[in-house]
Amino acid sequence: MTTKRFAVPSLTALALALATASSLLGQTPRPKVTVIGTGGTIAGVSETRTSFQSYRAGQKLIQDMVDELRPQIDEVAEVSTVQFGNRASGGYNIPDFYDLTLAVDKALETADAVVVTSGTGTMDEFVYWLELTVRSQKPVVITGAMRPWTVIGTDAHANLFNAIVLAASRETTCLGKVLMLNDEFHAAKEVWKSDAYRLDTFIDRQVGILGYVDELNVRTFRAPPRIQHCDDPERWRTPFDLTRISKDDLPRVEVLMGYQGARLDEAIAAFAAAGVKGIVVAGGGGSREARQAAEAEGVVFTATERFRSGGNNLMPQKARLLLLLSLAFSKDPEQVRNWMAEFSAAEFEVGPRR
Ligand code: ASP
Repeated sequence: MTTKRFAVPSLTALALALATASSLLGQTPRPKVTVIGTGGTIAGVSETRTSFQSYRAGQKLIQDMVDELRPQIDEVAEVSTVQFGNRASGGYNIPDFYDLTLAVDKALETADAVVVTSGTGTMDEFVYWLELTVRSQKPVVITGAMRPWTVIGTDAHANLFNAIVLAASRETTCLGKVLMLNDEFHAAKEVWKSDAYRLDTFIDRQVGILGYVDELNVRTFRAPPRIQHCDDPERWRTPFDLTRISKDDLPRVEVLMGYQGARLDEAIAAFAAAGVKGIVVAGGGGSREARQAAEAEGVVFTATERFRSGGNNLMPQKARLLLLLSLAFSKDPEQVRNWMAEFSAAEFEVGPRR
């Protein structure tokens, strides 16, 4: 992809255009961006201006945060807000994720793009859930912050501003959902939080960032493989249309981690007895007998790696969301296996192999 400058019409230019008949000669209206706030550190209020790590997350309202970016943000987009919630990221569960998808879908009925703010703790799950369930090709950008809104040197203001710039640029159309922090944007499938404190915490497991937001310049360097189906929206979309199911159809799926000498049989049996429908085993573990007994009770297993990269590159907490959705939409184990393979191992189709 080429480097592009995102042309933002200035307010003066817009006013002039409105004031004269030249508005009919092609002044582009500002893109409509809806920002959906869910809380996290970005909405955090610190004890003092320098208590970078002592703060209460999920305090400020998203409307007030956007207002603090005025008037500059008004030159970028026509911004509206929705307060979905105001919690730390770990305070949301799967039924909440279901509602969040519907909130994003609803916003996209009228907006050109959506920004979702959340805590960074499980932001990699937020973005992958939206990747799998929001069916629109319009840009959806998720952002947050490593420092609360109210400290000196916070990244919160810049991240919110840049996320709106990125969404308004519409440069991520068909790229799927992206995560923007620290001037960098990342693909939903690969992105991973690597550090509890640093501002450059988000990394992409060796495949690299998608691009940068530098002031009003959006620079895109690569695209996720799903872009190749942009002209075929049916193929581009996943089958996980949440309007076809209810929250109660979302089964319980858990993750177990393998390690040296791991004895997971009791945990597998306990999960099966508790009604868990899927288990992601990261790194192997559990005897064949324990798995077969659980499978006889309807549990579906998926193996993934506990390494940062390699294999199908889908980290356990994301494999869990994919398995959960696959099980919600099909009772056929082969169909579930096919979806798991298709979405976790998507690559570019680059013609004949040599
Ligand atoms: N604990 C916070 C959360 O995940 C961390 C953050 O927002 O960055 O909500």
